[in-house]
Amino acid sequence: MIRSELEDIVGPEDISQSPVDKLAHAVDYYWVAELWHDRGQKTPQADFIVYPQTTQEVSRILKIANTYKIPVTPWGGGSGSQGGALPVCGGIVMDMKKICVLHEVNKTAMTVTVDTGINMQQLEWELEKKGGSTMHLPASITCATLGGFIAHRGTGVLSTKYGKIEDMIISMEVVLPDGRIINTLPVPRHASGPDLNQVFLGSEGTLGVVTRATLKIHPIPEVRKFQAFLFPDLRQGLEAGKNIMCKRLRPCVIRLYDEAETQRLIKRVLGIDRQGAYLVFGFDGDEDMVDLEMKSAVRLCDEMKGENLGTEMGQEWWNHRYKFFFPPYMFHMPQAFGTLDTVATFDKIGNVYTAMKKTIETNFPEATYIGHFSHWYDWGCMLYARFIIDNPPADPHEALALYNRIWNLALRASMENGGVLNEHHGIGLKLGRLMKELHGEAFFALEAIKKSLDPNNIMNPGKMGLGIN
Ligand SMILES: Cc1cc2nc3c(=O)[nH]c(=O)nc-3n(C[C@H](O)[C@H](O)[C@H](O)COP(=O)(O)OP(=O)(O)OC[C@H]3O[C@@H](n4cnc5c(N)ncnc54)[C@H](O)[C@@H]3O)c2cc1C
Repeated sequence: MIRSELEDIVGPEDISQSPVDKLAHAVDYYWVAELWHDRGQKTPQADFIVYPQTTQEVSRILKIANTYKIPVTPWGGGSGSQGGALPVCGGIVMDMKKICVLHEVNKTAMTVTVDTGINMQQLEWELEKKGGSTMHLPASITCATLGGFIAHRGTGVLSTKYGKIEDMIISMEVVLPDGRIINTLPVPRHASGPDLNQVFLGSEGTLGVVTRATLKIHPIPEVRKFQAFLFPDLRQGLEAGKNIMCKRLRPCVIRLYDEAETQRLIKRVLGIDRQGAYLVFGFDGDEDMVDLEMKSAVRLCDEMKGENLGTEMGQEWWNHRYKFFFPPYMFHMPQAFGTLDTVATFDKIGNVYTAMKKTIETNFPEATYIGHFSHWYDWGCMLYARFIIDNPPADPHEALALYNRIWNLALRASMENGGVLNEHHGIGLKLGRLMKELHGEAFFALEAIKKSLDPNNIMNPGKMGLGIN
């Protein structure tokens, strides 16, 4: 009966119960899902995969799901690392990739309005033809959707100047769990009550389905230039980065690698075989301004005793920027690995880094800890730390227990020192159990929003620690 009602909405070609489709929608980029699959274990699967093509179809599907209390899990590109898109309670997986119409490029407002199932690279290609860009250029640009980035508060390589996705959104259309279609206000800055954009940004499909968004676009800059430095000590590099940001220079990129990652990845990808902490920064815009800002940033790095490796070594990093995240440089099964990304103010971020490193290295001698600082603000920066275990236990249950223990201890070390659970990958299934620890009493407010918008707990149940009594 449910199938025929869903079929009535999307048509027989846009609903699937095939084993292949179910399997393809049961493993995302979460290490545990990959582990389970790798070791021949069965992962929870959806009963139906539906591919709506319009907002109206999403609304009608949610009305049915809400009536029968069927779980619904939105699925974008399946590139999320937190298990957010996994249908752990079965029900409906709503694959968003067919909702992908580019509605308007408004060159007067410098905005684009687009359906959220669009592949991010596809959107960029379309905008480039018109001389613009969202400047949202994440490493997963080819395999993720706009909706996935909105759901996770994702970030791209140019975030230090152009912001994270939450800074790029002007307004959004959202389908609520009961099927109501709502729009947020037409501007992202106002004094007309709390900002609903920020309620749905980062809600990871637990409060509704984001179907359409209007984003800022930017002209393609005249030039983009880079410069690399090597610091004898990571703390000097951190201070240099902080000074660049607090002087209110506007780099599009600052990326600072710790000594271990400089030795491991900078060496392998860029061929720089040096001890120290590698830092690269870049500026873009009109050439005169870029040259002026580059000069100031170079001076600030000189003051912190950085060795200038030149523009070519910076440009090389930009040319190879995505390689760091894909084989053969990226880690893969059977290795166990995780990205412990967090963010803190400048007075705390160095201690967060050290506390997580000490925790991993003391408690898990089999693990390697590496990290870099990749997204910078005028108040602090983001740490992209990772642990890697080359030979985790063969037994999947033992491997899982070890994996979760590492996350618990490392993230508690982060939180005790002023860090948070995550900066741009989200919470998902992976970190939901730690949400109460992070938010304290304030978690009640998040639970109250969830209960009020989704009293039947149909939207992505089991994620973000929400809807669990
Ligand atoms: C190689 C690689 C590199 C990566 N690099 C980056 C990076 O540079 N920056 C970055 O931010 N992330 C990065 N990621 C992580 C990942 O790409 C992002 O988290 C991305 O936002 C996930 O998008 P997706 O479309 O694949 O979402 P999915 O994995 O399909 O879903 C993620 C979450 O979003 C929800 N969701 C999806 N669409 C909607 C919607 N329309 N409405 C409501 N909820 C929705 C899902 O239910 C789920 O909770 C990387 C991942 C990989 C594999």
